[in-house]
Amino acid sequence: MSESDTMHVESRVVQGMHAPDERTGGVMPPIQASTTYARDEHYALINSAHSYTRDQNPTYETAESMLAALEAAADARLFASGMAAATAVFRVLNPGDHVVAPAVMYWGLREWLVEFCERWGLALTLFDASVPNALRDALREDQTRLVWIESPTNPTWDVIDIAAAADVAHQVGALLAVDSTVATPVHTQPLTLGADIVMHSATKALNGHSDVLAGALACRDAESQYWQHILRERGEGGAVPGPFEAWLLQRGMRTLFVRVQRASDNAMRLATALNHHPAIEGVDYPGLPDHPGHAIASRQMQNGFGNMLSLRVHGGAEAALRVVGELQVFIRATSLGGVESLVEHRASIEGPSSPIPDNLLRLSVGIERFEDLLQDLVQALDALEGQR
Ligand code: PLP
Repeated sequence: MSESDTMHVESRVVQGMHAPDERTGGVMPPIQASTTYARDEHYALINSAHSYTRDQNPTYETAESMLAALEAAADARLFASGMAAATAVFRVLNPGDHVVAPAVMYWGLREWLVEFCERWGLALTLFDASVPNALRDALREDQTRLVWIESPTNPTWDVIDIAAAADVAHQVGALLAVDSTVATPVHTQPLTLGADIVMHSATKALNGHSDVLAGALACRDAESQYWQHILRERGEGGAVPGPFEAWLLQRGMRTLFVRVQRASDNAMRLATALNHHPAIEGVDYPGLPDHPGHAIASRQMQNGFGNMLSLRVHGGAEAALRVVGELQVFIRATSLGGVESLVEHRASIEGPSSPIPDNLLRLSVGIERFEDLLQDLVQALDALEGQR
């Protein structure tokens, strides 16, 4: 057994799977920009793993092997974006199949899913993740093919019990797919809890530097028909990243654990410090003991509770927007999981159809010094209190 086999996954990921470039000894892998691959005089591929980059590219493979190790997956594949990865899972369903998903989830996917199900002839049930047994009640024996969940759920951070969801989904013959973008493999490994597919917007914490658009899927059974269909959907649909994006992603993933743990510590400390501020109606964070999902999160999340939290401000949308306007350290921008802290008024982004309370501010907590983040939020909330 080599030394690398006994290393912890987090150490192997730091070293890009302990795999120096075979040709040059380079500690970092090269970027393989080629779209096509040569054949010998008998027209056989010189390297049978690579023929054309829409199917597979060597530079994808470093990031894919890192993600497969992190998720304890049989296989993992990169996509051009989180949406490209997520939509591939739905595109392999057949008209007439029934799909179940939470009513509150990443809004871009929810909007796409509602329209896609109508056009594609899929039956869709959206369930309220905060109501016990709502998922079980939404399932249809022999018709539900896919249960899609997200945990924690963006942006209210409801926690869905993945093991229980896998159990009920499998009882009716459905697969369970989990959008684990927010939890990251640092906090949760859905496949080990019984899920069949894990999806990531690698644009977020996996890359961590707000400079790559990418997505990924990982699976428990690489031989299964659904995974083979997904691979065809990726190759034929062409929803793959460029080699440079894949290379940047493997570089970002090397620091995943230190980034995510620091951001998660900052988020926990901010949630605790702000929970009783007079300008705050409530803090939504699964790490807080009064959060409805805290007990499940304590079982299903390790190394903390993630970098995402929401503040509900007294005084509705106007007060929330005033707080946002006072912030000096948090950057007003959408997205999440980067090293820099971002703030977002979700209702403004999602528009009138949004189910999100209009006093909710979503924070993507980064890895800055905690004191700078706390001071920024406290001065903005105090300014609001002073104006009342
Ligand atoms: N899932 C979650 C939880 C997200 O937050 C996002 C993007 O914000 C996506 C999926 C979609 O990912 P991408 O923007 O990489 O397509």
